[in-house]
Amino acid sequence: MATVTFYGACGTVTGSCTLLSWGKTRILVDRGMYQGTEEIESRNWEPFPVSPSDLTAVVLTHAHLDHSGLLPRLVAQGFDGSIHCTRAGRGLVSLILEDAGELQEEDVRYARRKRYSRHQNPQPLYTSGEVRQTLRLLETHPFDASFAPAEGVRVRFRRAGHLLGAASVEVSAKGSDGARRSWCFSGDLGRYDVPILKDPEPPLEPPAALLLESTYGDRRHEYGDIEEVLGKIIRQAFARGGSVIIPAFAIGRTQEVLYHLSKLADAGQLDPKAVFLDSPMAIRATELYQSAGVEHDEELEELAQNGSDPLAPDRFNRCHTVEQSKRLNSRREPAVIVASSGMATGGRVVHHLRHKLSDPKHAVIFVGFQAAGTKGRALIDGATQVAFHGEIVPVRAEIHYLRQLSAHADCAELLRWCRALPARPQRVFLNHGEDPARKALAAALRQETGWPTPVLPDSGLTVDW
Ligand SMILES: [Zn+2]
Repeated sequence: MATVTFYGACGTVTGSCTLLSWGKTRILVDRGMYQGTEEIESRNWEPFPVSPSDLTAVVLTHAHLDHSGLLPRLVAQGFDGSIHCTRAGRGLVSLILEDAGELQEEDVRYARRKRYSRHQNPQPLYTSGEVRQTLRLLETHPFDASFAPAEGVRVRFRRAGHLLGAASVEVSAKGSDGARRSWCFSGDLGRYDVPILKDPEPPLEPPAALLLESTYGDRRHEYGDIEEVLGKIIRQAFARGGSVIIPAFAIGRTQEVLYHLSKLADAGQLDPKAVFLDSPMAIRATELYQSAGVEHDEELEELAQNGSDPLAPDRFNRCHTVEQSKRLNSRREPAVIVASSGMATGGRVVHHLRHKLSDPKHAVIFVGFQAAGTKGRALIDGATQVAFHGEIVPVRAEIHYLRQLSAHADCAELLRWCRALPARPQRVFLNHGEDPARKALAAALRQETGWPTPVLPDSGLTVDW
């Protein structure tokens, strides 16, 4: 039997995980963490339906935690096969998982100290030691070259344009009827014509089946001038004597935010010394982006050739230590603080929000997707108060949401990528989107491409390869 079973990211955007089975060969595409409400995150603790030691290999589309975040747990529970990822993405995978391990341990220490937990004795999902064990299993591959993670199975990574090293995955293997066919897993698709990375590329082989992400299947991004909007919010907040907090995913969104802040500084509209990059992970990620020249798009290359380096993190203040970060709380002069996490679910940005949300002179700018159940989502939806570790903070600061700065393709861009496929797929599945988004994308696909009606899998659905 050759089958595909959908697990995470079914009707939601976190917990990406798909199981491919051919007899005893079992390959996972992604093993992501669930993020959001306590109820959603409790799924991270559920045992995986297949014993981790029975898995042959993992193919990882990209570094984001909602695609990679449960790999160390899989390893802690007995998985010791290879984890295949792109060569360009390896640095980010290490960075994000090392950080996740430390954050897990830190959160547990905090909860024990403050006795803030519903559990008597809170435990981390995994430890830094288990993360190190996981990273030893990484096996890297260049884009566009195929490799065999198991006998009879061929895999190829294609650029997805979503973040450094992010890939769509083509998997080719024999189905139950003995015929070889290819499935394409889009992974998270990035946007066209945005700075820094090359545009998304379609699969090379006609896919018999396509598993397509649908994060923004019901949205059209605004296409306004980002620097104009960003500059205006910063100018107005500074004029009130307030600061601007930008919660941004350390990897990807932060680099794009820095790119635009750099451009504002180049235009003399922003003093770079008023900008604080408050995230050791974002500082290191920016260095990785900087050194990945081959993945840069033409625009960035051109700027580099003209002597400008919009990704240079040393242009701005960088907070490596917690003390440097804490000092920002007592700073009186206006500042732009870029910190993670992007959905305000944890990390240093939570402390900045706790200190600044109640004062109307400050502004907060969200720039990436805000999943249901996160503080970021509550804030962009107009929450009048939020709780941080049990403390209720009223929301009086200005809240902005710059959708233009999304890392995900919108509906039109998803359709553009689909139209570039070498042939029409016989089957289409939509995941990695909340239900309204995937329903809207299903309708758009039917209307615009005439493809077969997409299936919106529930978690646990198994179909034939
Ligand atoms: Zn992602």
